[in-house]
Amino acid sequence: MARDPVCGMEVNSGETSFAIHSKVTSYYFCTGRCKESFEKDPERYISRLDQKFIEERKISIVGTGQVGATCAFTLMNSGLVNSMVLIDANRELAEGHALDLRHGMSFSQPCKIKVGNYEDCRNSDIVIVSAGAGQKPGESRLDLVKKNTGIIKDLIPKIAEQNPRIILIVTNPVDILCYVAHKVSGFPMNRVFGSGTMLDTSRFRSLIGEYCGVDPRNIHGYILGEHGDSEVPIWSQVMIGGVDFKTYCETYKLDYNDLDRDTIFSKVKNAAYEIINKKGATYYAIALAVTQIVRSILRDENSILTVSTLLDDYYGIEDTYMSVPAVINRSGIERIIRITVNDQEKDALRHSADVLKSIIKELGI
Ligand code: NAD
Repeated sequence: MARDPVCGMEVNSGETSFAIHSKVTSYYFCTGRCKESFEKDPERYISRLDQKFIEERKISIVGTGQVGATCAFTLMNSGLVNSMVLIDANRELAEGHALDLRHGMSFSQPCKIKVGNYEDCRNSDIVIVSAGAGQKPGESRLDLVKKNTGIIKDLIPKIAEQNPRIILIVTNPVDILCYVAHKVSGFPMNRVFGSGTMLDTSRFRSLIGEYCGVDPRNIHGYILGEHGDSEVPIWSQVMIGGVDFKTYCETYKLDYNDLDRDTIFSKVKNAAYEIINKKGATYYAIALAVTQIVRSILRDENSILTVSTLLDDYYGIEDTYMSVPAVINRSGIERIIRITVNDQEKDALRHSADVLKSIIKELGI
C-alpha cells in the first residue's frame, strides 16, 4: 500500500492506474484528479509527505441552514475539529452563525471558524453538504428531487475541484443525491457517501430501548435501504445484550407481536414528518449522527455505521446508493458488510433499491 500524497488516502500501488515514477521514487494516486494536482505543484505535496499527514482537522460545511448550523455547533463542542469553514448561498446567514459560534468558544473547544467560498474547501478532511431547498406547499416529491439535484450538480464540481478527502451528503433525498455527487465528482465511492439511515437506525434503537427498558446504546439493530418511505427494519437481527428480540421479549414477559413491531417501525418512519409538523425541521439528532460519522473518520475508528453507500452485487442490488452497515475509517468507506437477512427482508431491500433506481431513471442521470 502507498499513500496518495495529495489526498492522503491509502492506495493499492499494484492496482491504481494513476502513478508517477521518477528515478528516485514512485508516487501513486487514487484518482486522475489527485495526479493532476500533484503535477501542478509537486514540491508542495512532496514536502508534506514527510510530515504527519494532516495536523489540521478541517471540516467545511456547505449549506448552513438549520442542519448545517447545528452540525457546526455539535462539531465545535465535540473537540474533533480545529478548523471549520461555513459556506452558504446566503453569506450573511453563514456570517451570523460564525459570529455566534465564535462567541461561545471560551466555553467550548478551540476551533478556527471562518466563512468562505468553495476554494476554502481545499485541504478539508470532510466537506459536509447540507445545502438544499425544502419542500414547498403543493410541490411534489419529484419536483423537490429535481430542484436539489440541480443544486448538487452545480456545487459538487466546485467542491471536487478542491479535492477534499471526503464528501458527506446530508441533503435529501440523500441516496439519490449521493449517486449524483458520485457521478459528477469523479471521486471513488469510498470518498462520497451520505448520512443515509443513521438517524432512522438511531430512532429504531431508541424506541426498542424504551420498549425493553434498556439503554439504546446496548441495542443492536438496523434500518437499511432508502432513507425514506421504502426503508427496511431488519427485525431478524435485533439483538439486546446478546439475545435476539423475540427471545428477549419472551424471557422478560413483554409482548412480541406484529402490532407492536409495526408501531415501533411506523414511529421511526414517520418521525421526520411528525417533527416537521411540530417545529418545521429536524436538526439536533441528524447533527449528532453527522458528528458520529466525522468522529469515525477522523479518529480512524472502523465503526460500523448505516451510511448511504454505492452497492454492487449486494443481494442482487447493483449501482445503487442506499444504506447498509459499512465500516468507516480515515479512508471513508473501508468495507461494506453483507448483513445476514431473511428472505422477506432481502425482498424489501431489493424493492427499496428499485424505488431509488426508478427515481434515478426518471431524472435521466
Ligand atoms: P434550510 O433551508 O434551513 O437550509 C438550507 C441552506 O442551504 C440554506 O441556508 C440555503 O441558503 C442553503 N443553500 C441553498 N442552495 C445553496 C447553494 N446552491 N449553495 C450553498 N448554499 C445553498 O434546510 P435544513 O433544515 O438545514 O435542511 C437541509 C437539508 O438537510 C434538507 O435537504 C433536509 O431535507 C436535509 N436533512 C437531511 C436529514 C438526513 O437524515 N439525511 C435530516 C434532516 C434534514
